[in-house]
Amino acid sequence: MDSTTANGGGRTAAAAWLSLAAALVVLVGATGGETVSSAVSLVVSITAAVAAWLGVQRCRPGPAARWVAVAVSLNALGDLLWQLHAWLADSPPDVSVADAAYLASYCALGAALVVYAGDGDPHPRARFHALLDGAAVLVVALLVVWQSSVHSTLTDASLPLGTRVIWAAYPLLDAVVLGLVVRGMVVQSRVGVPALLLGLGATAWLASDLAWLLLAAPDTVSGWLDAGWLIGAAAFATLPWRDRSDLPAGPTVTPATAGTGRWRMTLAFLPLLVPGGFELRAWLAGENIDPLPGLLATATLTVLIIVRAQRLLTDQDRARAEVHSLARRYEALAVTSSDAVAVVDRDGRLTSDSRSLAELLGRPGCTGRSLPQLLGGIGIDPADVMTALDRARLTPGEPVELDLLGAHPTGGTVWLGGRAVDLRHDPDVGGIAVSVYDITPRKLAEQELAHQAFHDGLTGLANRSLFLDHTEQALRRAGRTGSPPIVLCLDLDGFKDVNDSLGHLAGDDLLRTVATRLQGVVRAADTVARLGGDEFAVLLDDTRGGLPVAASLAERLLQVLGEPVLLHGHRVTVAASIGIVAAEPDATPLSLFRDADIAMYRAKAAGRAQWVVFDPSMRAAALERIELERELGGALAAGQLRLVYQPVVDLQTEQVVGFEALLRWQHPTLGAIGPDRFVPIAEDSGHILPIGRWVLAEATATAARWQRAHPRSTPLSMAVNVSARQLAGGTLVEHVAEALTSSGITPSSLVLEVTETALVTDPDAVAERLCELRALGTRLALDDFGTGYSSLSYLRQFDVDVLKIDRSFVSLLDGSADDAAIVHGLVQLGRTLRLEVVAEGVETEAQRDRLRAERCDLAQGWLFAKPLEAEEAELLLLAQASAAPALPRPRPATTAGELPVAQA
Ligand code: C2E
Ligand code: CA
Ligand code: CA
Repeated sequence: MDSTTANGGGRTAAAAWLSLAAALVVLVGATGGETVSSAVSLVVSITAAVAAWLGVQRCRPGPAARWVAVAVSLNALGDLLWQLHAWLADSPPDVSVADAAYLASYCALGAALVVYAGDGDPHPRARFHALLDGAAVLVVALLVVWQSSVHSTLTDASLPLGTRVIWAAYPLLDAVVLGLVVRGMVVQSRVGVPALLLGLGATAWLASDLAWLLLAAPDTVSGWLDAGWLIGAAAFATLPWRDRSDLPAGPTVTPATAGTGRWRMTLAFLPLLVPGGFELRAWLAGENIDPLPGLLATATLTVLIIVRAQRLLTDQDRARAEVHSLARRYEALAVTSSDAVAVVDRDGRLTSDSRSLAELLGRPGCTGRSLPQLLGGIGIDPADVMTALDRARLTPGEPVELDLLGAHPTGGTVWLGGRAVDLRHDPDVGGIAVSVYDITPRKLAEQELAHQAFHDGLTGLANRSLFLDHTEQALRRAGRTGSPPIVLCLDLDGFKDVNDSLGHLAGDDLLRTVATRLQGVVRAADTVARLGGDEFAVLLDDTRGGLPVAASLAERLLQVLGEPVLLHGHRVTVAASIGIVAAEPDATPLSLFRDADIAMYRAKAAGRAQWVVFDPSMRAAALERIELERELGGALAAGQLRLVYQPVVDLQTEQVVGFEALLRWQHPTLGAIGPDRFVPIAEDSGHILPIGRWVLAEATATAARWQRAHPRSTPLSMAVNVSARQLAGGTLVEHVAEALTSSGITPSSLVLEVTETALVTDPDAVAERLCELRALGTRLALDDFGTGYSSLSYLRQFDVDVLKIDRSFVSLLDGSADDAAIVHGLVQLGRTLRLEVVAEGVETEAQRDRLRAERCDLAQGWLFAKPLEAEEAELLLLAQASAAPALPRPRPATTAGELPVAQA
C-alpha cells in the first residue's frame, strides 16, 4: 500500500473510529448503569488499543505514535485489570495492580512526547527554549492541580499514604502531559490536529481525574467519569492513524529567527498571571488559601521567565547580527568574486551603488547612471545590453543569460557573460538584478581551441576538416547561385627530397613559405588549406570566371612557388603539380578532393611543375595507378623486372660504343608495363630506391661481362638512368661505389644519366652529390637535354660529361631548316663546352646524316637498334666483332683540359 492511500484510508478510518467511540462514550455517559457502563467502557478501551495498533500497522507512523499506541494499550490493560478486580471482589481496593498499568501508560505518553520534541530539531538552543516553555506550563498546570485537588488528597489522613500519592499522581501526570503538549504547540507555533488530539486526550483525562478526586460521590457520575477517560483513550488511539508529517515535531525554527515575535515574549510572561489569579479568586471567594504554593510557583516562574526573556533577547541580537553578517558576506562575495552585481530600474539605470561593478568598469560612483551607457564605455554596444534587459522584463523572476561582445576602446575584444533577472516584484530588490563577469580570457581560449581544431598547426592554414566544411558550404551555395565551386589540389614536387637532404626543420620552413606565398596569390574569400604533408588545396569562392580563371590562378601559383627559397643556407627551388576540378552537380566534398587529386597526379606524371584540369576519364587511370603502385612493391622480388640495352653508336663509324640500360616490367597478368608508366610511380612511392640499386648492380655486371668478352682500348660504356629521388636520397653514391667494386668495371665506362628536372629541386645539394659521383670516376650525362628549363645555367653549374639531345629535337631534323638550327645550336653548345654529345631517338637516315654533318659524336635510335634483350645485344656485339673487328679509335675529350684526338 503506498503512503498516500494509506494516509487517505487512515484518515477516513480514524474519523469513523472517532465517531463510533464518541457514540459509545455518549451511551456510556447516558446509561449511567454500573454494569452496562463497565462492560461498554471496557469494550471501548480495548477497541481503542486495537484501533491504535491497527493505525500503526496501516499508516506506519514514527516511533512517537507507537509510544502512544503502547500508552493506549497499557490504559486498556489497566481497565481490564480493574474490571477483573471489580468482578472478582465485591468492592475493589482503592489501589490495585491496575494502577501500575495506568501509571505505566503515562510513562509511554511521556516517551511519545519526548520523542516528538526531539524529532524535528537538532538545535540544543531550541530544545532548551522548549524546555523552559514546557517548564513554565508545567508549573502553572501543577499549581492548578495542586490548588484544586492534590493538596487535599495528599493531606487526607483517612487514606493510606500510598493511596494518597497514587491518586494525587493522576492529575499531576495529566498536568505534565498537558504541559508538554502545550509546550509542543508553543514551540511549533501551530496547533495541528495531532496536538489537538493529544490536548483533547490529556484534558479529558485531567477532567475525569480531577472530578474523581474532587467530587464527594464520584460513583453517582461514574458513567460520565468513564466517558472522560474513554474520550482520552479514543483521542490518543486516533493519533497513530495520522501520518508522520502531521505529528507535532520539536521546534522547526532556528534560534536566530525563533522568538523574534512579540507574541512569544507576551506568552512567556502570561504564566505569571496564574498564581495571582488563584490569590484573586480566593480573595473574592473569601477563602483563606495556603500562599506558599502560589509564592513558590511565582518565584519559579519568574526565574524561568527571566531566563526565557534573556534568551529571547539574545536570540534577537543573534538574528540581527546574523542578518548583518549575511549582508556583509554577500557584499564581500560580490566584491571578491569576478561578478559585478547591480540592480537597475526598468530603464537600465542603477538604483544603488555597486562596488563590484565599479571595479569591473574601473570607475567609481555609478548610482543613477545607465548600465547600458556604462558598459558602452568598455566597448559593449548599449543596444545589446538594453535588449538583454528587455528580454529579462518579458519573463519576470526568470534568469536570462547575457553574452555581450564588444571591442574594448583600448584595443582587443571584451566579452561579458552573466545573467539578468527581473525582480521588480520583489520588495527586497525592486529592480532588475544584473550580474556580469568578464569571460574574455575564457572565450579567447575557446576560440584558440576551435582555431586549433580547424587549422594546421605548422602553417596556420585551414586543415582538412575546415576545408571539407567550406567545400560543403560552397556546394550548397552552388545549388542556389548555379556557379559550381572549383578546387585546386597542389602537391610540391620534390618536397621529400628537401626533407631527406636538408632535414625536417628546413622542410617545415619550406612549407611555411609555400603557405605564405599561396595566401599572397589567392583572394581573401578563397580558402587555402594544408591537407597534410606537402599537399595543399585552394577552394575558389567566386567561380563566375569558370575554369579559365582557375587556370590562370594555377599559373600564378606555379610562378610564385617557382621562385627560389633560401633554406638554412641552401637555395632551393620547388615546383608544384596542380590538379583543378570544377564541381559536377552530384559532387561531394570528398569526390571533389579525389578528382582534384587525380588531376594533380596527372600533372606530376606529365613532368611536374604544371597544372591539369580534371577529366572523368582520368578516374580509371588513377585507379590503375593505385594498382600499379601496389604491384610494384613485389615486382623486384618476384623477378618481374629486367633490363634491356639500347646500343649507343659512333655516328661516323656506326660501331656500337656502349649501351643504355632501360628498365622493363613484365607483369604476369597486366603484361608488359613501360617505364614511362611505372617509373614515375616508383619515384613517388620510393620503390625506385631498391629498384635503382638493382639496376646499377645488374647493368654494371652485364657491362663487366661484355667488356671482358669484347675488350677495347676504350671499354664499352654502360649508361644507367638515375632518378631525382635517387639523387636526393643519401645512398646513391654508396650504391654506385658498391656496383663498381663488385663488377670491377672501369669507373669511366659507367655513365649516370640525370635529367634537368632532377637537378632543380635543391641545386646546391645535387651539385655536391654529383661531385661525389665524379670523384668515384664515373661520367655524368645530362639526359633529355633541352626539354627542361634554363638548361644553360645548369650546364654551367653542374660539371657533366655528356649531353643527350632529346628525341623531340632530333625528330625536327626531318622538317624545316629553322628547326634544324636548334639541333645545330645544341650540338655546338656541347662542342664548345667540350662535352660528348649523344643524339637520342634517331629513327631516319636523314636524321642520321644531318647529325653526322653537325659532327655530333654519338647516337641512339631505332635506326640503329631498338632496346635489346641482353642476349640479343651480345649477339650484336659478336656480329660486329666478326664483321669489322673493333679498332682502337679516338674518342672526344671528356675534360676541358684534353683536346679531342680527332681534332688534334
Ligand atoms: P630515356 O632515358 O630518355 O630513355 C630513352 C627512351 O627513348 C627509352 O624509352 C627508349 O626505348 C626510347 N627510344 C630510344 N630510341 C628511340 C627512337 O628511335 N624512337 C623512339 N620513339 N623512342 C626511342 P623507354 O625505355 O620507354 O624509357 C623511358 C624512360 O624511362 C627513359 O627515358 C627513362 O627516363 C626512364 N627509364 C628507363 N629505364 C630506367 C631506369 O632504369 N631507371 C630510371 N630511373 N629511369 C628509367
Ligand atoms: Ca636516358
Ligand atoms: Ca633521354
